[in-house]
Amino acid sequence: MDRSTTTDVRRIVTDRKGLDTLVAALGAEYDAVIGPRVSGGAVTYDPIASTADLPVGMVDEQEGGHYRLHDGAGDALFAYTVGPQSWKKYLYPPRQTLWRGTRHGGGFAVEAPPAPTERLVFFGVRPCELAAIAIQDKVFGAAAHDGRAKGEQQYTDTGYAARRAASFIVAVNCGRASATCFCASMDTGPRARSGYDLAITEIPPEPAPELTRDAGFTYLVESGSERGEALLDRLGGRPAADGDIQAAESVSQATRASMKREMVPDAAPLLARNLDHPRWDEVAERCLSCANCTMVCPTCFCSTVEDTTDLTGDHVERWRRWDSCFTLDFSYIHGGSIRRDTRSRYRQWMTHKLSSWEEQFGTSGCTGCGRCITWCPVGIDITEEARAIHESERRANEGSA
Ligand code: SF4
Ligand code: SF4
Repeated sequence: MDRSTTTDVRRIVTDRKGLDTLVAALGAEYDAVIGPRVSGGAVTYDPIASTADLPVGMVDEQEGGHYRLHDGAGDALFAYTVGPQSWKKYLYPPRQTLWRGTRHGGGFAVEAPPAPTERLVFFGVRPCELAAIAIQDKVFGAAAHDGRAKGEQQYTDTGYAARRAASFIVAVNCGRASATCFCASMDTGPRARSGYDLAITEIPPEPAPELTRDAGFTYLVESGSERGEALLDRLGGRPAADGDIQAAESVSQATRASMKREMVPDAAPLLARNLDHPRWDEVAERCLSCANCTMVCPTCFCSTVEDTTDLTGDHVERWRRWDSCFTLDFSYIHGGSIRRDTRSRYRQWMTHKLSSWEEQFGTSGCTGCGRCITWCPVGIDITEEARAIHESERRANEGSA
């Protein structure tokens, strides 16, 4: 599962036909190739059969509480960024059966559902999403962290670990940032460093490197694992020259330079020492406690369990489904909810994401994907909230100096 162990990265340059060959080869070897598609006016992750299924030429327009997809990128295959869905939809499904119980005569049998066996290809995984998968690997005990080796952790979600082990990842380095992206300040993008089998960079045609050119995109494909490397020879490209590698690097640098948002440095200690800051009251006046931010977040993992029985009383099932720290019931303990107001729920979410997550898992819980900003119906911006606290602390420190 470690995709970062290949010491000699191999790189080829191919065209759209080469990528179609790749999708076909992966489709023949795996149960399905999942990739970005347009559905309901947004980029979603669903099965694809060729590059024609991708949102070809589409560009997304994102801002706080705003998302639109439109044409504008010619034949580009990857000019959009992330939509409302993430790969957790496949690795950590929204609803799962945990166990089933059946009454037999005087006895009662409990059985776990069969382990997942589907082998999926995730095609078009962005660097911030690779980072999110690496974070969920830690959360679900499928990766080493906190000094513990993989397999030594106290608990492993066996379903997640099985799905993860059966996945093949084709990453795409971002050639464009949306207005809500801030991965550069979280050190998770816009270029993937590890965690993939293959990584693609879409290179615009020379000499005018704008995305609106109608033809001529090339694709630098690099290996990140031995099984990825084994596929490269089948794509029909040519070995990458220094100029190709430099062109791909320039794409990433331009994307990085165009990023408009950033997270303040040292957000973890900042929030930990500001638990009673008046900004929590201010954001609570705008927040609807709708939970959208947690549903779209690629790292949020809160869940609840539900038991269902049939009318005969002979069959029972326990289900796990996604939940959110924004619901009142989520913090229901011993006759009452401990986070009754929106202030405490928003503070719980943001301080967990940016601060206490570090203590738990040795990493931030945020990858800078920007989804929580775009899909918040009132446009609450996690970078702006952190900055407001940062600025008030800076002003207070200047005043006392
Ligand atoms: S907190 Fe927001 S920006 Fe950070 S990973 Fe989650 S959805 Fe993305
Ligand atoms: S921050 Fe926005 S998306 Fe999250 S619960 Fe509040 S209103 Fe909903």
